[in-house]
Amino acid sequence: MFTETVEHTWEAGHSLPHLPGKCSSLHGHTWRASITVAGPSLDQAGILVEFGAFKQRMRDWIDSRLDHSLMLGAGDNLIPLLDLDQPAGEPRSPLAAAFIERSQRLFVFGRDFPDAPWPSVEGVAQLLAHHAHTRLEQATTRRDVYISQVTVRETDHNSATWHNPDPPTAANATASAVRVEATRAFGNLPPDVLRELLTATAPQTAAEIAAQMGVPLSVARYCVDQVYAEVVAEQQAKFDHEIAQILDTPDK
Ligand SMILES: [Zn+2]
Repeated sequence: MFTETVEHTWEAGHSLPHLPGKCSSLHGHTWRASITVAGPSLDQAGILVEFGAFKQRMRDWIDSRLDHSLMLGAGDNLIPLLDLDQPAGEPRSPLAAAFIERSQRLFVFGRDFPDAPWPSVEGVAQLLAHHAHTRLEQATTRRDVYISQVTVRETDHNSATWHNPDPPTAANATASAVRVEATRAFGNLPPDVLRELLTATAPQTAAEIAAQMGVPLSVARYCVDQVYAEVVAEQQAKFDHEIAQILDTPDK
């Protein structure tokens, strides 16, 4: 098992008005995040992931959305005063107008990130874990590396850590990688052709499918043995949707 950790800091204000004590007042911190990627082995280049790409994506997201922002919860009594749903050009509350005039950066937990209702240090860790997961998927084709934990620190004395509750096992990471390749190989075939290809053939002819489609035997076997129904159903739903869109489009 190997791990690598990205560190980043940003400045932001927040408030937790539902809690007793001084956290209910608007105040700011220099927030510090440590985002850890884990995986069972190194690749042929001797690395876990191409870390620069992941690091850059993660830092860009934090810098553009959270840095010098005000992080509030959707249940904060300031939120109704900010007219967030008001269409552009409509009259606004004086507070909302002042926010717009100074281009105040705002991130609303429970709205911009529905999974966490408040900008607590735990909620911020959960938010970063969510975005780290997506950015790691963009940065690598490996499916056996994952975000194992995210620690966020708001002061020298306060921190919270999100732990991945469901790290991939070696077996399901392999299945996931094969599935990704199967979808890539078979994903553009019409469902009837795909169904015929996969069901009209017995498992022992997976080798023929592999040769015919130019895919690894593991991918052909995967489709034939385990998920052809799922792959066909996905394709059927996609084609049904496309046909419905064509039928719903009025002639011009
Ligand atoms: Zn605080």
